[in-house]
Amino acid sequence: MSSDKAPIASATNFLRGIIDRDLAQGVYASRRWGGSPGDAAHQAQGQPDPAKIRTRFPPEPNGYLHIGHAKSICLNFGLARDYNGVCHLRFDDTNPEKEEQEYVDSISEMVSWLGFNWQGFGDNNLYYASNYFDFMYRAAEALIESGFAYVDQQTADEMRTNRGTLTEPGKNSPWRDRSVEENLKLFREMRDGKHADGSMVLRAKIDMASPNINLRDPAIYRIKRAHHHNTGDKWCIYPMYTYAHPLEDALEQITHSICTLEFEDQRPFYDWVLEKLAAAGLLAHPLPKQYEFARLNLTYVVLSKRRLIELVEQKHVSGWDDPRLPTLAGARRRGYTPEGFRLFAERIGVSKADSWIEYTILEDCMREVLNESAPRRIAVLDPIKLVIDNYPENQAEDCHAPNHPQHVELGKRVVPLSRELWIEREDFMEDPSKGYFRLFPGNQVRLRYGYVVLCKSCEKDAAGNVTVVHCDYLPDTKSGTPGADAVKVKGNIHWVSAPHAAAAEVRLYDRLFKEAHPGAGDRNYLDDLNPDSVKVITAQLEMSLKDAKPAEAFQFERHGYFVADRKDSVAGKPVFNRTVTLRDAWQK
Ligand code: ATP
Ligand code: MG
Repeated sequence: MSSDKAPIASATNFLRGIIDRDLAQGVYASRRWGGSPGDAAHQAQGQPDPAKIRTRFPPEPNGYLHIGHAKSICLNFGLARDYNGVCHLRFDDTNPEKEEQEYVDSISEMVSWLGFNWQGFGDNNLYYASNYFDFMYRAAEALIESGFAYVDQQTADEMRTNRGTLTEPGKNSPWRDRSVEENLKLFREMRDGKHADGSMVLRAKIDMASPNINLRDPAIYRIKRAHHHNTGDKWCIYPMYTYAHPLEDALEQITHSICTLEFEDQRPFYDWVLEKLAAAGLLAHPLPKQYEFARLNLTYVVLSKRRLIELVEQKHVSGWDDPRLPTLAGARRRGYTPEGFRLFAERIGVSKADSWIEYTILEDCMREVLNESAPRRIAVLDPIKLVIDNYPENQAEDCHAPNHPQHVELGKRVVPLSRELWIEREDFMEDPSKGYFRLFPGNQVRLRYGYVVLCKSCEKDAAGNVTVVHCDYLPDTKSGTPGADAVKVKGNIHWVSAPHAAAAEVRLYDRLFKEAHPGAGDRNYLDDLNPDSVKVITAQLEMSLKDAKPAEAFQFERHGYFVADRKDSVAGKPVFNRTVTLRDAWQK
């Protein structure tokens, strides 16, 4: 895909086609909503559901959200918004031990930050799957009672062997034909802590010869003596994810349950279990339907939880919100914006085919948004002195710089000019290369918003590094005064007045990985870390930047977009992070 600035057009999203069709056919028109999640009886006493569709974002609270999750959030909440529906935020916390409050808080915060909410038609649709344990248990007994579940006492090894392979059918467990009474008794004993962890499981009774291995009597409950953050020690049996998930959707009256492609093979079980529970009267039609889309794969980053944890724990980055990490907390700190993420999600679209998205597409979205919104400021990142020899000492005058070239209404601000300025080291060359139009002895350039100057000479330190450049200014050339452009120059450089400047720490972030596909082939992804992913410098900034508030974003002219770090900035002493350069330096 090219990085051309194409107009903001909605990319393809096959799910819209499905929802359009369902709404046109009235598939969900008869649904009722009892004001909260619940079984068929609870929903039946409710009103016709005012939400046209219900989607959900169901993170497991066992880690921080990353850019891949942003795609799913924009998709699910975006569809709900566009179709006058509701998107639930559901913490999928059915797995004990792993979940933590810290993650719950951070996830809610990031969904809000992206610009979405889970309110709708008077309800606060924030749910915890663990609140459904009672129903899940009752549903399991209902499956047993209708002959669709049994307690299996095979060892894990026996179960694995008897599951069969892709080419061979599985074998029935010797426990498969127990009576309903015996199954109920054993399952209740499991619940009551009468059996050891791992000694038995409850399995759905479907078909050990199914070509879909997921239908070969999948486990639905296991014994695990583990403390749960919400239910404490009430349970020593926990539902398996593939069983819990469809039930959660059904209790919440989800219409379109959107998940990533790896769950495609689970869809028949999803439908099976909901159909069986509807037949038993626990759930009502229409039932939720699962749809799969391709997860986001992004070049130059890793989005696997395991690897993100490794990067943090092995201290390759400073923490979960390190501005180089693809976590949303990191991206936010880096200066990436919610608008940029929503534009990105829109632009990459949703499809069923796995593919890689170029990181530059994300960066371009951030640039586009920031170009519109970020006020312009001047910063000299690699400062050397420029002395205007013919400018009086102890004098200063006002120059006027527009706050946003495309938004005249944002006005201008004063930037003082004096005899000593800071300029970029790269804006001077003692022996200019061909095509170099900036400062070199004998050449004239414009000090942006100020005067044209004639470069005369430079001073160097013992090591031969230029420390000071000398010039004279041409008094009749001040920008904005009549006849200012009578002197034509090819170069135009930025500067800040040295006595009026503020020195500040600036962190020049770049990509965390130097390879588009970290760890591809036989490489260890850690070997692909970019050794220059951050460079910390002391820059000279125009004075007004001293008052930048944490998270405030600017364009530093000629350099890129920068944000005052939300963590390390203190009043009067901001630290800046480079969000993204003006142009892509990585395009080959
Ligand atoms: P885990 O391996 O722990 O399950 P996960 O990345 O799937 O990790 P979840 O908390 O289960 O994390 O994810 C919540 C939702 O985000 C899921 O519905 C999943 O489909 C979606 N999601 C996760 N990663 C991506 C991705 N790279 N692109 C799009 N959606 C994603
Ligand atoms: Mg998951």
